[in-house]
Amino acid sequence: MFRVINQNEMVRSGELSTRAGQVLTPTFMPDGTRGAVKSLTPEMVFSTGVQVVLANTYHLHLQPGEEVIARLGGIHKFANRKGPMLTDSGGFQVFSLAKIRKITEEGVRFKDPKTGDYIFMSPEKSIQIQMKLGADMIVAFDDVTALDEKGRDRTLEAFERTHRWLERSLAEYQRLTKEMDEEDKPIIFGVVQGGLNKDLRKKSLEIVQTLPVGGIAIGGLSVGETREEMHGMLDFLADKYDDSARPRFLLGVGDPIDVRHGIERGIDMFDCVLPTRNARHGLVWTTDDERVHLTNEKFADDASVIDENCDCYACQQGFSRGFLRHQFKVGEPLAGTLASIHNIRYLERLCESYR
Ligand SMILES: [Zn+2]
Repeated sequence: MFRVINQNEMVRSGELSTRAGQVLTPTFMPDGTRGAVKSLTPEMVFSTGVQVVLANTYHLHLQPGEEVIARLGGIHKFANRKGPMLTDSGGFQVFSLAKIRKITEEGVRFKDPKTGDYIFMSPEKSIQIQMKLGADMIVAFDDVTALDEKGRDRTLEAFERTHRWLERSLAEYQRLTKEMDEEDKPIIFGVVQGGLNKDLRKKSLEIVQTLPVGGIAIGGLSVGETREEMHGMLDFLADKYDDSARPRFLLGVGDPIDVRHGIERGIDMFDCVLPTRNARHGLVWTTDDERVHLTNEKFADDASVIDENCDCYACQQGFSRGFLRHQFKVGEPLAGTLASIHNIRYLERLCESYR
């Protein structure tokens, strides 16, 4: 259940009730791709103000497999995560990571990049895996296209298939949750596709909004288009959402500039690997979304913390830019850990400033 607490122009602050607890929005959800937010303990994640951790269905299905995770007590127990978790559908990874794949109406057959085994993923299979993992929020399986020149040709086909697959995802979800009490059911998000075609996007949003989904996800952005194109589509969609009490989730977007743009166009939830991936390469955000490369030689003698306006563990404990630069230079993983804490906290503070 979702409740808008306050709305100012397009910006909404809200409260989402999941079976694992309340989530205040807008919110940024870091990606715990393989069950863990890379190089961070659950306590460190908690210290940043994160409310929801995302896990990737594709990666967990390949390794160690949902059966193993279910036997070990489900994704929360497995990952030692106490609060809400969300799993994606696996669609984005199937389409972006699997080099050899064959798409049919039934689903996608692809080769496991590690073992070479053929694996089949369909809307039903994706929902089954996500239910077995035990996430509190799940996403319908969609057909994702890149927005580079080649991918754009497939926009209409992917748009049409996404809705057929959404109906199948929902039917499977309803079948698997039939016996559950309403408050025990995970929330299912339907995905809006349509590339950069405004007519298709509008239609896609209308279709998703007429279905009994618990949340609206905007997919297929941040996949090769320019920032102006992405922002233009968020502007276009901003006044087309219906007034049903459902959260809006922008998939795979995590640059502060884009998160701000999204929040100001009515988006409630975001996820991305960007803050932690950037951090591991020494790239951090500081006040006013400035990008700072900690590996730069000019920081060798710098006694100041990453950002003196920041209340994250790394800045509050006084780890200097000089220390962090040195740790990055010698390949010490602590540097990536501290920078990850800082970057995630940066996005959480950004979201908090809008609530
Ligand atoms: Zn910090």
